[in-house]
Amino acid sequence: MKLEVRIERTSAPKAHPPESDLGFGRHFTDHMLLVDFHESQGWSDARVLPYGPLALDPAAAVLHYGQAMFEGIKAIRGDDGVVRVFRLERHCQRMASGAPRLCMPAPDPEMLAHCITELLKVESDWVPRARNTALYIRPTLIATEPFLGVRPAHQYLLYVILSPVGSYYGGDTLKPVRIWVETHQTRAAKGGLGAVKAGANYASSLQAAMRAKKDGYDQVLWLDGAKHEFLEEVGTMNLFLVLGDELVTPALGDTILSGVTRDSIITLAKARGMTVTERPLSLAEIVSAHESGKLKEVFGSGTAAVVSPVSELVTADRRMIVGEGVGPIGQSFYDELTGIQHGTRRDAHGWLTAI
Ligand SMILES: *Cc1c(COP(=O)(O)O)cnc(C)c1O
Repeated sequence: MKLEVRIERTSAPKAHPPESDLGFGRHFTDHMLLVDFHESQGWSDARVLPYGPLALDPAAAVLHYGQAMFEGIKAIRGDDGVVRVFRLERHCQRMASGAPRLCMPAPDPEMLAHCITELLKVESDWVPRARNTALYIRPTLIATEPFLGVRPAHQYLLYVILSPVGSYYGGDTLKPVRIWVETHQTRAAKGGLGAVKAGANYASSLQAAMRAKKDGYDQVLWLDGAKHEFLEEVGTMNLFLVLGDELVTPALGDTILSGVTRDSIITLAKARGMTVTERPLSLAEIVSAHESGKLKEVFGSGTAAVVSPVSELVTADRRMIVGEGVGPIGQSFYDELTGIQHGTRRDAHGWLTAI
């Protein structure tokens, strides 16, 4: 399914921010893409418009009952100048498979990929050139029908905005993070929305994250919501541990977001011949692995940071220092993934879409 994308160009292009000071999610490009959904008509009127505020009825369902989800994708300008999107199809498929959990219409993944590609063609000059910068792509799906009864809305808006972002680490050197292990609050409950990139999951995570920041930690390690015994995710990233020679990540379920970076690391690890295991990981197992010296590395994975090494895991009664901070395995996945994204390593798995 392909929609014709209408293009209306801005008459007032913005100055590009300096690439040395992009930060994350602070700047937006000149245009955005919008597609409407009406229950009776399906998807219609795909259009690229000048970037600007949306007109929403104050009764729009998203503002009351939270039917909202999003994606996060990166377009990278390679060392050869070519702009490539990393795993575009997989991100579009994830949005399509998540929408039904929120009773929202699933955008056809091919339609969404086509719309994103058309927007990127208009905005290609906004993909920054400095090493380790990227254009972050944020597709968003919201319920727009003005109606206060509690039921799934009949009207939706799919839109895509773009943000030039700087190197997460300010350079090539990974910075390890200190993690607070949260044993009271919960990011996602069994049977809930945890496997979907729903805005509501972030609302649920803010308070514990803020408290951890105030206490001097960078992120929160989330445990299962039922008993707070099993590891789930770290901040907004999936979690990997190196236990002896084994690479382990918590098995997916309906409380863990199925990260594209997670899947990429598992694929690369298997290609290297490493033992990769997806299984439940209890905090008790980590504590004993730390005591026996088996816990070599901990790192998070996600589109924004790619790999985020963990140097410390701290609970109310225990402080676990992990390895040297930045471990060789986490670093090697960071190098391999960013190498593929920049076109300097072979894209053996067909992950890149050139624009
Ligand atoms: C987006 C996200 C991730 C990472 O997913 P990627 O596809 O690798 O970016 C992990 N956990 C949560 C909760 C997320 O929202």
